[in-house]
Amino acid sequence: MQRVSHRIGSIAESATLKVDAKAKQLKAAGRPVISFAAGEPDFPTPDHVVEAAVAAARDPKNHRYTPAAGLPELREAIAAKTLRDSALEVDPSQVVVTNGGKQAVYQAFATLLDPGDEVLLPGPYWTTYPEAIALAGGVPVEVFAGADQNYLVTVDQLEAARTPRTKVLLFVSPSNPTGAVYSPEQTAAIGAWADEHGLWVISDEIYQNLVYDGVRAASIVEATPALADRTILVNGVAKTYAMTGWRLGWMVGPKDAMTAAANLQSHLSSNVSNISQRAALAALTGPQDAVEEMRLAFDRRRRAIVAGLSAIDGITVPLPQGAFYVYPDVSGLLGREWAGVTPTTSLELADLILEKTEVAAVPGEAFGPSGYLRFSYALGDADIAEGIARLHKLFG
Ligand code: PMP
Repeated sequence: MQRVSHRIGSIAESATLKVDAKAKQLKAAGRPVISFAAGEPDFPTPDHVVEAAVAAARDPKNHRYTPAAGLPELREAIAAKTLRDSALEVDPSQVVVTNGGKQAVYQAFATLLDPGDEVLLPGPYWTTYPEAIALAGGVPVEVFAGADQNYLVTVDQLEAARTPRTKVLLFVSPSNPTGAVYSPEQTAAIGAWADEHGLWVISDEIYQNLVYDGVRAASIVEATPALADRTILVNGVAKTYAMTGWRLGWMVGPKDAMTAAANLQSHLSSNVSNISQRAALAALTGPQDAVEEMRLAFDRRRRAIVAGLSAIDGITVPLPQGAFYVYPDVSGLLGREWAGVTPTTSLELADLILEKTEVAAVPGEAFGPSGYLRFSYALGDADIAEGIARLHKLFG
């Protein structure tokens, strides 16, 4: 009998966390590593949010179990945010507060999938999706869009991958790892197609407030209101409010699905820390100036890193319009000799870059096919400039 179950034994380690951990380890050992690997803002959480958490920690009412689906005040604030940013009117009972967007992603798949149900997964995709789908018994069906199509899948591609077993479409805009944002028209076309075929949509909106160049990431339920009865929205405070460590996300969806998801959560983890919930309440209902300041800083860094990477011969960089990642196609660097090494995959290229220049980026293999690197630009301007300078030296 095997010691670890097949189901859990087949889960791969998160490749993004692995690269980030390796970079942090080298840094701790005194190496001047510049890491573009982390998927988190470098800013501290805004002061008024921290203060709300301090006050919450002192209040004994927060020292006890609370409803598994979340504090009523927070569920109300999330319903208001959903109306504000996704143009979807929901009752607070349609909100489930989770330990980060990650738990919301897992619970959304677990709530909808039976064994063998297929999920259309646009790629390059965030590493967690296929694992969460498989854990829930589903089958991820990748639909890949490369740099030549700005990493945006088309209705024709989705339709070609649809089978009688297709139950769910995963939609994410802005995307991790590519930063790609679907236009409202593209979103409406995909929404109408999903509706026509009776599919469910899990829409990950965690980066919806981090958009640039005046674009708006329209929610798929705003573009196609008829989908509201078969859509689960996933979101959280991690990226917008620099709160990755607080572990606070949520899911919003039709009443029956949210009741089922809350039942699952009541046995899995119960309520999210009340301190984090009170902090999230302050984040969603308080002043938003810090959010705008961070967004402007990300925008400035985005331009700097795109300009720097574009200047390297062999790298193609579609301009990302959201999140804080840039996803260059680096196939032009493969099969050539750099500092005595000839990488043939982006995995080997990322290793070479880390070894020779002490710059960390996540290889495309973490998100689908080889040939790409993901750079997060959620790090200081000076570090970005230094990291780019090192790459220019290696590939110059
Ligand atoms: N969705 C996407 C696309 C993400 O990139 C992340 C974080 N890497 C999450 C969800 C989950 O974020 P968290 O669990 O920190 O709220």
